Amino acid sequence: MKGRVAQMTGIEQITVKEFDVPKAEKGQVIMKVLKSNICGSDVHMWEGKHIFKNHVMGHEMVGEVYELGEGVTTDYAGQPVKVGDKICPVYYLTCLKCEACLEGNYNVCTHGSDFQGQVADKYPHFTGSFATHYVIQPNQFFYKVPDGIPDNVVAGANCGISQMLYAMEGSGLKPNDYVVVQGMGGLGLFTSAICDVMGANVIAVDAVEDRLNEAKAFGAKFTIDMKKFPTKEERLAEIKKITGAKGPDMVVDVSGVPSAFDEAVRMAKIGGTVIEIGNVSIEESQCTTIVPGLIVRKCLTVKGILRYQPIHLYRTLQFLARYHDKYPFNSLTDKCYSLDETQLALQKAANKEVKRAIIEPNL
Ligand SMILES: [Zn+2]
Ligand SMILES: [Zn+2]
Repeated sequence: MKGRVAQMTGIEQITVKEFDVPKAEKGQVIMKVLKSNICGSDVHMWEGKHIFKNHVMGHEMVGEVYELGEGVTTDYAGQPVKVGDKICPVYYLTCLKCEACLEGNYNVCTHGSDFQGQVADKYPHFTGSFATHYVIQPNQFFYKVPDGIPDNVVAGANCGISQMLYAMEGSGLKPNDYVVVQGMGGLGLFTSAICDVMGANVIAVDAVEDRLNEAKAFGAKFTIDMKKFPTKEERLAEIKKITGAKGPDMVVDVSGVPSAFDEAVRMAKIGGTVIEIGNVSIEESQCTTIVPGLIVRKCLTVKGILRYQPIHLYRTLQFLARYHDKYPFNSLTDKCYSLDETQLALQKAANKEVKRAIIEPNL
């Protein structure tokens, strides 16, 4: 059986290559990819702004079991699996043996990307999801997909939604709390829906009116348009009109703009929490100025969140089974492309001509 993968072969360059689909080794699962979303980080990689270069692209995926390796009879929630079952894997590996894994921090396993950044020519070839097939390694968590959730929605479950569920579950957020969410891209909308389900009052901040309207559909009770309130002082005053003088209980930054962190620290109430997710770059150029004394004097808790614990993918799938109809998750992906159109799809995504493109590798 031959399969095909879309490999990055230069900056903004994709080549589709053909290989034999490997036989499932002990503990592995070979998955046939049904749909794979183009994530913002995929665009980032394609533009050459990431350590992964010349790798098989794609990490947000849903597929069907094509072959089970020896010893694999269930998913990681103990649910029996057979060929043809719909599954969704965590996109990173968990070796269970490194210092991070030994402390239960599976999300930062030092072997997490052992296969993800690999070139296509190297066995087992099918190491990204812009491909007809994908090899799930031993100790790489995967879960059966509950019935009824559209594939479009599931394809994004193993990245942004799981990350936000992980972040909010561990945040200490309480019903009726006020939470400011900075940035209403996909992560912001997911945060809004999750916080709404948790009974909190979401205040969505963005500079794009359409996104603020989407935020309302995803459960935000209040919106602040940065075009109408262009300075941080104006936004702070506006937020205090909503929360009262104390300010919001929590601020979640998913904007990816360094100065948003400074603003978050200024907004949060005494004893409040700031969650930083959007700023992932560690380049010097991504510095911002903050007043550390504000963190001290307000006794703030500041948390950074990368990826998610594998179990949060399971919980995300349960969350989507219950809420995919309540919030318009299905509207977040808008255009499908074949594997041969991966280059075009990435171009459209980079130019923001599509909201979120999907690759359907077996079209
Ligand atoms: Zn992603
Ligand atoms: Zn590890």
